[in-house]
Amino acid sequence: MKKFLLGTNWKMNKTLADATQYTNDLMPIIEKYPAFDFFIIPSYTHLWKLKELIDTNKSALKLGAQNMHYADSGQFTGEISPVMLKEIGLDIIELGHCERRQYFNETDETVNLKTLAALKHGFIPLICIGEKSEDKNYGVSKEMLAKQLKIALKDVPSDKIGQFWVAYEPVWAIGVNGIPAETPYVKKIHDFLRTVLIELYGPLGKDVPLLFGGSVNINNAKDYAGLENVDGLFIGRSAWEPDLFEEIMVSVG
Ligand code: PGA
Repeated sequence: MKKFLLGTNWKMNKTLADATQYTNDLMPIIEKYPAFDFFIIPSYTHLWKLKELIDTNKSALKLGAQNMHYADSGQFTGEISPVMLKEIGLDIIELGHCERRQYFNETDETVNLKTLAALKHGFIPLICIGEKSEDKNYGVSKEMLAKQLKIALKDVPSDKIGQFWVAYEPVWAIGVNGIPAETPYVKKIHDFLRTVLIELYGPLGKDVPLLFGGSVNINNAKDYAGLENVDGLFIGRSAWEPDLFEEIMVSVG
């Protein structure tokens, strides 16, 4: 039985002290909820320390990075390579978050290269896709999402099914100015994404974990989690304190 995925991207937040405290607090909490597979995605600078902490505590908490270059090494000042992240022993690499697309020139093509590199190095790429509000207003959400998904997964063979995750995060729903998506809308899009995955991979497409993210909170988590094609929730602000995160765990139950 596949576990429901629950995880949080901290974005550019938390000092090392905050990150350590959070992880120390979260590890005993997740023990109480064995039905879920948990992950946290901190800043690069915290990863070594948190990995040590997780291993010392023999915790099942998965650890990920928020981005990665696709090359193993090279003249890419300021970038972090898969080889470097592999040394830490990470589980997940988040790719293509809308903030990276918006502010750091991440494109569908670079997300594809990074996805292939992440898989090559044995990470789970957590591929983020999402339409902008103008796409939604023009009625082209599905077209935009299919394009993002298909380009991200170009040359990813079907024997990698289960080793990559996809997070649908509508750009207009993310962050403090985000508007939480209506549950029927999330259902419509997740059902659609499933059909795209089946188009790409046949029946195996059913086994790709599809997460939802964007203003997930205590009021909507249960409804989203109850949808057939939602296999996990990818949470920002509402999981940045372990006790708030636990309230979501309880509500999704
Ligand atoms: P949010 O962030 O839950 O704070 O809207 C979600 C995300 O960016 O993944």
